[in-house]
Amino acid sequence: MRYSNLFGKTLREAPREEVSVNAQLLIKAGFIDKLMAGSFTLLPLGYRVKEKIEQIVREEMDATGANELLMPLLHPKEVWNETGRWETAKEVMYQFEKNKKEYALSFTHEEIVLDLIRKKVSGYKDLPVKIYHFSTKFRDEPRAKSGILRGREFLMKDLYSAHTSSEDLDKYYWQVADAYLRIYEKMNLKARIVEASGGVFTDSHTHEFQVLSDQGEDMIFYCEKCDFSQNKEVATVKVGDKCPKCGGVVKESRSIEVGNIFKFGTVYSEKMNVMFTDKDGTRKFPYFASYGIGITRLIGTLVELFHDDKGIVWPKAVAPYNVHLISIQDNEKGDKLYEELLAEGIEVLYDDREIGPGQKFNDADLVGIPVRLVVSPKTGDKIEYKERTSDKTELLSLEEVLKRLK
Ligand SMILES: [Zn+2]
Repeated sequence: MRYSNLFGKTLREAPREEVSVNAQLLIKAGFIDKLMAGSFTLLPLGYRVKEKIEQIVREEMDATGANELLMPLLHPKEVWNETGRWETAKEVMYQFEKNKKEYALSFTHEEIVLDLIRKKVSGYKDLPVKIYHFSTKFRDEPRAKSGILRGREFLMKDLYSAHTSSEDLDKYYWQVADAYLRIYEKMNLKARIVEASGGVFTDSHTHEFQVLSDQGEDMIFYCEKCDFSQNKEVATVKVGDKCPKCGGVVKESRSIEVGNIFKFGTVYSEKMNVMFTDKDGTRKFPYFASYGIGITRLIGTLVELFHDDKGIVWPKAVAPYNVHLISIQDNEKGDKLYEELLAEGIEVLYDDREIGPGQKFNDADLVGIPVRLVVSPKTGDKIEYKERTSDKTELLSLEEVLKRLK
């Protein structure tokens, strides 16, 4: 992509009203635009990051045997009445009336999935069901002040599974938990599995995936020595206690929730009268669970964790491009290298603008692509190579650059 052709350029100043680092940097660097509090456009750069994150999530979900589909966002009141959540989830749900019929905008999809299962599943051979989609969620959010960490409209991957037994559900539940940990690891995030309460989803305990960060809205107790972690809301320990798992010391930290998984058992199946015929011919309720990862929230989390005073520092796996190419006073050289890199399958953001080198360097740091390449009359037949995480510049041949990028 030629930067001259990119929609959504960098801004000189971050908008003053934005208090969160993720919103300041993402808006300033041209990744997002704010329509209103909690409602953002993903500009082309932000959209590419979203696509990278989704692909990582998709690969891990598919590896668990799940099927991708796409469910609607406009729901009739009737389906929400079946579980009682039209009333109990009223605070978070956008509900409205049109031509004397009542609707909700999706804040989750349990009821929609169970309605599907009711239509498509008859016997035990049709189970387990494992289906997921990437789609928009709407949640009425009184405090939408954390940039894209907390939106009124946001992107999520939600997976749902239904099983013939609680044992089978348990097995899959922890398989998905492992997949989640791999997803975060691929983005350089160290996530902890935290015991938590289920909110408007379930009365029983659930598991959240939390990343330690001062910017987080959650508070967790955790052990540095092992994986023991509890959300403060449901904690049975306090700071300084002995870790119930390994005897280490319990610490406290703010954290950002980057995913959650819920086991519902047969509660929702019973409420919606979803049944299947088991091997012995008896009619039973399937065991049900759901699993969410906030995609746009992950973008915000990554920026909160990976930035410095110059801008964003994207982890390689989710950076919008592999390389930020800058030409200085020699666009002929820049154009040639741009074509050569593209031919090698490398994703390049090429700053071909007729502006001073200082601004190009500042923008490269702000946008945060992992590798910066510079060609100028000074670099001769070589290319200046610099990583975003380092101050060191090196003059390399094209072959050497390609080797580093592979
Ligand atoms: Zn421990």
